[in-house]
Parts: sequence; structure tokens; C-alpha cells
Amino acid sequence: MERKEILEWLKTDDEERLQALWQQADQVRKENVGNNVHLRGLLEFSNHCSRDCHYCGLRAGNRKIERYQMSEEEIMACVLEGADYKYGTVVLQSGEDLSLDVEWIAQLIRRIKQETSLAVTLSLGERSREELTLWRQAGADRYLLRFETSNETLYQRIHPARPGSESNRIELLKVIGELGYEVGSGVMLGIPGQTFEDLANDIEMFCSLNLDMIGVGPFIAHHETMLGQAAKAESIISPNQVPNTELMTYKAMALARIICPKANIPATSALATLNTPTGRELGLSRGANVVMPNLTPKKYRALYEIYPAKACIDETAADCRACMHGRIRSIGRDVGTGRGDSANKQAS
Ligand code: SAM
Ligand code: SF4
Repeated sequence: MERKEILEWLKTDDEERLQALWQQADQVRKENVGNNVHLRGLLEFSNHCSRDCHYCGLRAGNRKIERYQMSEEEIMACVLEGADYKYGTVVLQSGEDLSLDVEWIAQLIRRIKQETSLAVTLSLGERSREELTLWRQAGADRYLLRFETSNETLYQRIHPARPGSESNRIELLKVIGELGYEVGSGVMLGIPGQTFEDLANDIEMFCSLNLDMIGVGPFIAHHETMLGQAAKAESIISPNQVPNTELMTYKAMALARIICPKANIPATSALATLNTPTGRELGLSRGANVVMPNLTPKKYRALYEIYPAKACIDETAADCRACMHGRIRSIGRDVGTGRGDSANKQAS
């Protein structure tokens, strides 16, 4: 698809015209990744974070949240529950928690691989080549790291680097790919200051990075963050500002599907937060083929507050499983079995 066409789709709100985009995305999804919806069990195992991203409630400077780290036994109980539920993958996600021992994480990965047949996806932030190599050798299969926005100036404004170093997630994604991980990335939509041209560049970048997994979700303001505060100040909103709406999220997902036909694309929790009754189903009908039921124990869920009013914080893992199965079947799709590996990798 030409860039001009991407921009036209991003800018139109004509519901009737958009039907053609939804249909094309759904058709491309069907032809390239089929009818199965893969389930990835999400385990948010630590909310400690050493970074100060201007958008995220887990940032180190937020003294108002209670921090937790799950023990190995707690994590394994959730992982085994996910395996019982026939999820093909467990996603281990946390803040960029440098207090966790790197070898402890490697041992945890080895244990999951020995005791289950689950694929292991890591989402632990920006880590060194040595750490990423160790975890890959321990058996981790996939890594998720969103580049958040391809506009470098905006990225640096909202994502301060660690003191004395640079933050270059695009370069790190290349390292992750070289190490043999399936590579997942993505962006937030509607970051204050993000223009339609930026978002078109983001979508083109999904293609040039040859991603196996693409996550796009709306930016949701958190009151205990710099961007949450600043979002109230109109001065940082660009004249060509992308709105952080549900509709914009569907458009970006549909375009991602058309441009990267074989990628795995989740209907994200941030989308479900904007529209809890039907956001996931609409996402699945407009390009997505993955959902991420939450495996995190109920007592920790509310503490993993990246943004407020997150969907599914009062449910148990069993509730999430039943809910996702029901939603998938209600739109005539099948619950995926097995690991749901990247069709993109298999093709290349
Ligand atoms: N710490 C790891 C990292 O940054 O990659 C993984 C966890 S982090 C919470 C996962 C993702 O949450 C980020 O990549 C970002 O896109 C998303 N996120 C953070 N704050 C958000 C917000 N206010 N609204 C929407 N998404 C947000
Ligand atoms: Fe930490 Fe990730 Fe949140 Fe940034 S987005 S503050 S690295 S948890």
C-alpha cells in the first residue's frame, strides 16, 4: 500500500468508507494466518521499574504505587495454570526491573521449558546483548519491545535514556532478531505530539523491521506521569495530532495487517480498556489474531497500573480464560491450539 493511501485511511472517519478497510484487513488475516486466535497467557510478575518513561504509571519516580515481585513458586503456579488452560505461550512481563538477578530469570526460563511445552515470550525492557543471549540460550523464544514512536525527537522527549547511555529500541530490536528470537514491537497511538505523518512512518517501519508480532494500542493518560499531566496542556498537542481513540486503533491495526500480512497481531488490553464490551471482538474482526488473557494473580493486577482503569483487574485467571473463549467463539473464530509460532518466520 502506498504511503499516500495509508495517510488517507488514517485521516478518514467516514464509517461507510472504512467498511472497505475492515473487510480487506479481515480477508488478508484469513488468507495469511487463518481463523485461529492464539492465546498468550500474560504474567505481570514485577512492577518494579528503573526507568522514568513519561507515559507509564510504573515509572520509577511514581512513589504512589505499591511495588511487588512474584516469587519463583508463585510464577510457576501461574505458568502451570496457563499450561492446563492449553495456552500455547506464557508472556513474562515486568517493568525494567534491574533488581532481578539475571541468572534467576535464566533459571526460571529453563524451568518453564522443562516442565511445560509453552513458548516463552519475554517483555522485560531494554536489556544488554549479554542478558538477551543468556535468556535465549536458556530457551526463551520471543521478545516484545515496542519502539513506541518512530519520531526520534518525540521518543526522546517521552522516554529518557538511562543516565550515561542512549536508548535506541530500533537498534535493540535488530539485536533481538539476530539472536534468533521472534521479534515483537509496536507503538502507542495518540501520544501527545504524535502527527499522522509520524503514525504513517510507524506503520511503514513495522514492515521494514519485518516484525513477527505487532502491538498497537491507544495511549491512555495516567495522572501520576509527566505526559498524563501535560496531556491536559493543549500546547503539546500537535495541530496534526493523532487522536488516541478506539477508531484510530482499529485503523492502525487494520493497516498493520494489510502491510505485514503474516504477523501475529493482538487485540490489546488498552483497546479493551477503551471498549470493554466489544473492543477485543472488533479488533479480531479488523486484523488481529491474538488475545492475551491475564494469568497474573488478582492480588497483584491492580498494582500493575501502567494506565488507569485497566480492563480485567477484578477477574481471576479462570474468569479470563472463559471470557476469551466465549468472545472468540461469538465471532465464529477458533481457539488456537499449540504455540502459535510466527507465520512470518516460517515464510522467510
Ligand atoms: N517495561 C517493559 C517495556 O517498557 O517494554 C514492558 C512493560 S511496559 C508497561 C509495556 C508497554 O506498555 C509499553 O511498551 C507501552 O507501549 C505500554 N504503555 C505504557 N504506558 C502506557 C500508557 N499510559 N498508555 C498506553 N500504553 C502504555
Ligand atoms: Fe518501566 Fe516499561 Fe513503564 Fe517504561 S514503559 S516506565 S520501562 S514499565
